[in-house]
Amino acid sequence: MAVKIFDSLSGEKKPLPRTKELRLFVCGPTVYDCAHLGHARTYIFFDFLAKYLRKELGLKVFYLQNITDIDDKIIARAKKEGKKPADIAKFYTKAYFEDMKKLGIDAVTKYAPATKFIPQIINQVQRLIKKGYGYEIPNDGYYFDISKFKDYGKLSRRSAEQAESATSRIDESVGKRNKGDFCMWKFSTGADLRGLDADLRGKKFTVIDGEPAWWSTLGWGRPGWHIEDTAITEYFFGPQYDIHGGGVDLKFPHHEAEIAQQEALSGKRYDRDESFVKIWMHTGFLLARGKKMSKSLGNFITIRDFLKKHSADVLRFMVLSSSHYRSPMDYSDVLAIQAEKNLNNIFRLIAKINFRLKNTKGGITNTISVKGYTGQDYSGLFKSGLADDLNTPAAISILFRAVEQGNKMFRLSSREALIKTRNFIIGSLKTLGFAPKMPVIPAKIRKLVAEREKFRGSKQFSHSDRLRKKIEGLGYEVEDTPRGPFLWPKFSLKLWQKNRD
Ligand SMILES: [Zn+2]
Repeated sequence: MAVKIFDSLSGEKKPLPRTKELRLFVCGPTVYDCAHLGHARTYIFFDFLAKYLRKELGLKVFYLQNITDIDDKIIARAKKEGKKPADIAKFYTKAYFEDMKKLGIDAVTKYAPATKFIPQIINQVQRLIKKGYGYEIPNDGYYFDISKFKDYGKLSRRSAEQAESATSRIDESVGKRNKGDFCMWKFSTGADLRGLDADLRGKKFTVIDGEPAWWSTLGWGRPGWHIEDTAITEYFFGPQYDIHGGGVDLKFPHHEAEIAQQEALSGKRYDRDESFVKIWMHTGFLLARGKKMSKSLGNFITIRDFLKKHSADVLRFMVLSSSHYRSPMDYSDVLAIQAEKNLNNIFRLIAKINFRLKNTKGGITNTISVKGYTGQDYSGLFKSGLADDLNTPAAISILFRAVEQGNKMFRLSSREALIKTRNFIIGSLKTLGFAPKMPVIPAKIRKLVAEREKFRGSKQFSHSDRLRKKIEGLGYEVEDTPRGPFLWPKFSLKLWQKNRD
């Protein structure tokens, strides 16, 4: 099946690049705070993408992610807390990895912290200066002259004049040639920076006024944000690679600046398709009740907070089922609860099919096949949903349809039809990056159910009803079927009620 992916730069759906090993780079976190649901959305999606490319399409994928462990925000937090910037970065890098592990995000081949690539960063800045794209502002730093790069703005469709609105603190300087010029190397604060050479001869790194500083022929200083990504990707992938991903908020100025740096360096030729990145992928905004998630609005939800209420599977299912990856996603508790209910229905049917298969001696005489219900090939529809720009909500709607039909036709279905339905559901969940795990029913509950069966057998219905209520009170539901009682946890309903109170 031909897979097509929307490229944000050309605005067109493109076929996957043909290559021995697909090179995917996704902007990683700036480690100055705990990751929130907006980050989770992006990283869950790209985790799914890498797994899909590998498992479904059989491709070899090198998935690279940087870690921004030197940045103004880290320095500011360190100053506020009276700590070293390196300690802040270390603490939140660890927190980030813990969060990713909890979310089952494990598709990244290589994490590259910026501070481990300082020589590569310095080298890129030097080459850009040599080529005439970089210039020095004394006592400030080296900047990229966007007027020298004629394609500046092609990704975000902004002109160089419009570029000014999005500069961050590190990029602010009165000495800039153009307002949108951005910093590639920031000199360390202090009187005469080059005067430090004598004092710190032989030392490659120090902290000056609370700001980390690396020694280079550019002077003591630290890298800008955009240059770290291109230095890292050039080191691993060279001047051109297949897919660059990130949140849509990074499109400008961050990704625009990356294009300017790397294409200025490589002197790429359009007629030879030497563009920096073949496909640009951007995940949509994550809103909270229609507003941008922010600390000041009090609607900022960290991954950790979310996981106190819901499972990691619920988060993944919510991200992949509620919106297409490019569309904005409006988060609310109801959305999470809905995802939890839907996921619960899916797992319940798998368990029910397993229960019936286990408790059926001999064959089931009815012979309605899965295809027979609707005449539709669920698996084919699911796959074509994903092949069309990773439309996970469309694919998951097919999964819902199969579950709905599976429940409706349950008693009439043949063994083969049930197995086929179950295998389709499990296979689809695996494609989406889930590792389906069935809940374990405690022995205590199973014992109560067995007791209840005895009462039912001897027609002591008041006793059996009492036990049913007891079982329900302990959070489990019993469904009486011709093949015995089917048990399932009631956790979803409980949570639903709790959240509505
Ligand atoms: Zn980045």
